[in-house]
Amino acid sequence: RAKEGGRCQHRCFEPLMDAEIKRRSVIERELRETMLADGFRPYYQPLVELASGRIVGFEMLARWPRADGVEIGPDQFIPIAEESGLINELMLQLLDRGCREALEWDAALSIEINISPVQLKDPWLAEKILATLTRLNFPPQRLGIEITENALIVDADNARRTIESLKNQGMKVALDDFGTGYSSLQHLRMLPFDKIKIDRSFVHALDSDGDSLKIVRAITSLASSLDLPVVAEGIECEAAVQQLGALGCAFGQGFHLGRPLSIEQVRDLLRGCGDGPARISAAR
Ligand code: C2E
Ligand code: MG
Ligand code: MG
Ligand code: MG
Repeated sequence: RAKEGGRCQHRCFEPLMDAEIKRRSVIERELRETMLADGFRPYYQPLVELASGRIVGFEMLARWPRADGVEIGPDQFIPIAEESGLINELMLQLLDRGCREALEWDAALSIEINISPVQLKDPWLAEKILATLTRLNFPPQRLGIEITENALIVDADNARRTIESLKNQGMKVALDDFGTGYSSLQHLRMLPFDKIKIDRSFVHALDSDGDSLKIVRAITSLASSLDLPVVAEGIECEAAVQQLGALGCAFGQGFHLGRPLSIEQVRDLLRGCGDGPARISAAR
């Protein structure tokens, strides 16, 4: 095939493919090694009630600190973990660590984890998660599960069964990155989510693009008629907090409200709040 496509494709494309395959197999091997050493680190980003500034929980985001001091973000390694079948084990390892760390926090604070849409095919997913929670004596009601919409294919039966069993065990299930999938409304109609998270691309453009504002307004109104709470992702300024609050969005997340934090930083933040409810800053 490459030959038919002409000389350059033949000469340039194949070495690129080789390099990419090599890169992936190196990462895959290092992934396995890091998992064996329990070397992944969850970071925690505050989830905030917009009206009060109160922190209601934290979203766990995976980070891979490597020996050379470089920290790799999930966009680099989650796809490889998915393709190599390591994603379930990685998720359980992060869940274990995240729940143990969250047990130190006020019991009113929830923790949310991200799972890959491919994991919904595993009929035992809910049982595996529950086994970890039971072992740690962690209440399932404090755990939220986020499923990104952008890779969600509604092969609805498996997905619905898995989401229902997670919910039956007391977990809350959120549709993440809402608005980025090919069939956002189908997802809402066919799958029993507890909450939706508006993708940050809409939130970013609130100021500059009138259509984004209309779309966010439509999403919050749709969500409210379905009785689903809405979280806005990617809030980077106070103006967005005000706008989103006025649009009926109760919760938010973003660099303006709190960056993803290491567990040490979370401890400092919560300690700084004393006995009262944790807030994002004294000013609010
Ligand atoms: P997500 O679940 O939508 O998480 C939000 C992402 O947006 C995070 O990136 C976060 O650091 C970033 N973010 C938060 N606030 C802001 C903001 O105000 N501005 C901007 N520009 N970005 C903001 P991160 O940590 O790189 O994660 C990327 C994606 O990787 C996540 O998107 C999630 O889908 C996935 N991911 C992260 N951890 C895991 C995991 O443990 N398992 C799985 N399956 N996926 C994960
Ligand atoms: Mg998420
Ligand atoms: Mg998201
Ligand atoms: Mg997003």
